[in-house]
Amino acid sequence: MTLDSAQQLLESTRKFISAPHKMFINGDWVGAINGDFLEVINPANGNPLTRVPAGTSEDIAVAVKAARIAFEQGEWADMTPASRSKLLWKLADLIEANADEIAQIESLDNGKPVNDARWGDIAFSYELLRYMAGWCTKICGQTIPLSAAAPFHAYTLRTPVGVCGQIVPWNFSFMMAVWKIAPALAAGCTIVLKPAEQTPLTALRLAELIAEAGFPRGVVNVVTGYGEHAGAALAAHPDVDKIAFTGSTEVGKKILTAAGDNLKKVSLELGGKSPMIVFKDADLAKAALAIASGIFYNTGQTCTAGTRLYVHDAIADELLAALVQQAQQLKIGPGLSTDTQMGPLVSKEQQQRVCDYITLGLQEGATLLTGGKCWGKEGFYVEPTILDNTTINMRVVQEEIFGPVLCVTRFSDEQENDIISQANATPYGLAASIFTQDVSRAHLVAKRLKAGTIGINTHHVIDPALPFGGFKQSGWGREMGWEAIELYTEIRSVGVAL
Ligand code: ADP
Repeated sequence: MTLDSAQQLLESTRKFISAPHKMFINGDWVGAINGDFLEVINPANGNPLTRVPAGTSEDIAVAVKAARIAFEQGEWADMTPASRSKLLWKLADLIEANADEIAQIESLDNGKPVNDARWGDIAFSYELLRYMAGWCTKICGQTIPLSAAAPFHAYTLRTPVGVCGQIVPWNFSFMMAVWKIAPALAAGCTIVLKPAEQTPLTALRLAELIAEAGFPRGVVNVVTGYGEHAGAALAAHPDVDKIAFTGSTEVGKKILTAAGDNLKKVSLELGGKSPMIVFKDADLAKAALAIASGIFYNTGQTCTAGTRLYVHDAIADELLAALVQQAQQLKIGPGLSTDTQMGPLVSKEQQQRVCDYITLGLQEGATLLTGGKCWGKEGFYVEPTILDNTTINMRVVQEEIFGPVLCVTRFSDEQENDIISQANATPYGLAASIFTQDVSRAHLVAKRLKAGTIGINTHHVIDPALPFGGFKQSGWGREMGWEAIELYTEIRSVGVAL
């Protein structure tokens, strides 16, 4: 194992990274049944960091069985909502108490700036758990007046959906794991969680805290492994009642096919190609800050990233000059350095993919305003990049790049209406933002944009209470808010003949 910047690490981080890693199944720490491992790479330098078990369908089968037993019988099945709520709060407290360490592990594993991990991913995670803990005691059915002539008393029961398979990506590994488990646990489900093979470490640290919080065995199981093995087996497993997935649209479609056999419930949070529209009356200084963060936060590896900028001719040069300056001033470096503002991409493959897209954009006729190259001598860095003069049919405008690459299109007064249609003209519909000081225009345009989350004079809009999800090929279902509880519950209608 090579741990660069090791002197910056907390003792607890060092201990965690250096220890042998096992999967968490039925409350026990176990290796893969076939004994295989997968290597975890540090994206800041490309060196191996550690290894974790490469679970397969056999391990998934054991984990699903444990989750089934925990769901049907025993302590969890009988637990009162108030006790579930306390466990969720306890887990939130444990995460907060260990937040610095988890942030360091996330930074080592994923590459992101440690402060972003600490005050973004990890802080959001414990707040989300607390928010969801509040729902435990408020999940209820209704009494329903019937139209039948005979007297009836009818009501609904809202009950947990059952055993949930949850497959999460590498861009916000810890936070995505908590997004998934928090509402499922609040509803009373049991879980088999499969983190991404690129970034499995924080899910294993989460499992340790789940054990420490006192969740009964089998309630949460964490199986590490490759998507096409462990992930595919989980999506296809006949005894899984629901599968929740965050990742690429391509894999989302595979999950859907796999889930078809037993028609398990499916929720999908998939890709995006989010537009940011800047009208000529926008506050440009504020817009520039929001747009830079919209595209460059998390090195552009954000499903809601504002990847397409539509800007009015009258202010385009001024705004782009400000954006170029911000891009060039961003401090690039290893996530563990506390002054880093943009870390590496997660993997060599991802770095190559982003660079290939930049080359493609230039071949398609875009103009390079800044960036455009890999950065540094080691690690998987790419410069923050702005491509001007892009048009709607270019592949860089249509396809998800998942890197720090902004595609710019300018529009005139006459094209103002058409630009909303262009903003809607991709297969995706996850997020969008509008920059204007005209209140009417802001709300009218918000209604026309086909996206699950819309920002006005801001881009990334996210909160534990706010439903999050996509239109079109950006997914099915809404996570967070009450809508997340709906994803993890089933309704029973009960009629009593009086
Ligand atoms: P990306 O393409 O950005 O790497 P993916 O959508 O491939 O993201 O991965 C998101 C998650 O889906 C990861 O946990 C990965 O292991 C998993 N995964 C990948 N392929 C499959 C598959 N065929 N079935 C189930 N899960 C998969």
